[in-house]
Amino acid sequence: MTRNKSYGDPAKYVRHLHITEDCEDNRYTQEILERTGLPYTILKTAERPVIEGTYPGNLTEGKHHLLLCKNLGTFFKPCPGTKEYRCCDYQVLNIGMGCPMDCVYCILQAYLNNPWMSFFVNIEKLFTELDQGLADKSRVFRIGTGEFTDSLAIDSITHLSPRLVNYIRDKENCILELKSKSVVIDNLKGLDHNGRTILAWSLNSQQVMAQEEIRTASFEERLQAAAQVAEWGYHLAFHFDPIIYHDGWQEGYRETIRRLFASVPTKKIVWISLGALRYLPALKEIAGLRFSDSRFFYEEFVDGLDGKKRYFRTERVAMYRFILAEIQKYAAPSTCVYFCMENDEIWQEVFGFVPEEKGGIPAMLDRAVGLAPC
Ligand code: SF4
Repeated sequence: MTRNKSYGDPAKYVRHLHITEDCEDNRYTQEILERTGLPYTILKTAERPVIEGTYPGNLTEGKHHLLLCKNLGTFFKPCPGTKEYRCCDYQVLNIGMGCPMDCVYCILQAYLNNPWMSFFVNIEKLFTELDQGLADKSRVFRIGTGEFTDSLAIDSITHLSPRLVNYIRDKENCILELKSKSVVIDNLKGLDHNGRTILAWSLNSQQVMAQEEIRTASFEERLQAAAQVAEWGYHLAFHFDPIIYHDGWQEGYRETIRRLFASVPTKKIVWISLGALRYLPALKEIAGLRFSDSRFFYEEFVDGLDGKKRYFRTERVAMYRFILAEIQKYAAPSTCVYFCMENDEIWQEVFGFVPEEKGGIPAMLDRAVGLAPC
């Protein structure tokens, strides 16, 4: 199944800006206002946008609204992960929250409890925190901005990506991963990125991408964008996450993998992650209300140690083995294929080793991008 119609830039879904008064004179706010020409409302500093209806019913409307405000918390911190499953020791750069695209399985629907999107304009603080954090030269940092939002979905509004790429360029102990389901790559053209930024796309079977990922770029568009940024010298990464069981899943994932490797330079791919669908019970309720045609939450699941629902172990292993075998038909030896949030037993069953034998997942990823000795 393919989607013929391109949605284009998901930022066009944003129709109204809300600005807290303490950010009204901020230079970045003014830059965004000038660039977008969108109507805006000034709010008191602690006030928040009012979106008609109640959450999550008003989430679709809320995605038209972008709040520009200050991040009063921390921009730069370790990914929460969980102690029960092997995680990759990622560092999260919290640039904002929410997303104009709308994936049925999006965990943010259950994590966040407000319908609007937020973007933090006090980026001097972001760079100060990065300066302080990255000063520790004894370790390496893999940084991502896609924990609570999509890294590029509103980049045509914010133009944050070139600022980050330029900043990371000279940081020898650091890699930035911009992860997206959009193809908003124009701001990345012509930058001297020094190989320190990775462009990553989430991929799935075409059926899942077409049916369950609303306002995202089509598969074809993602492949074209990946090939383009590879030509601009960026490294690539891909995330098969969430892997979803559905009729014809084998053929679906096989075809996606075949086309991926036929479309981008294999050696440019630094890593590929695999993660089967897992979700908080609240997500099933929310997605059930918002997307009543979707059926994939109605398979059988088991309770994971982190409170999330997961497919049964035998099903996870079967899906992972199949997908890994397809990837291994084409992948370069230097590409690190790894699990996002799985336990040692699954690693052993699928890969035939546990991460510790290779120094742990963080070391495996650091080696893949040349941040650690081979
Ligand atoms: S693109 Fe990512 S952040 Fe946006 S709705 Fe989909 S899963 Fe959520």
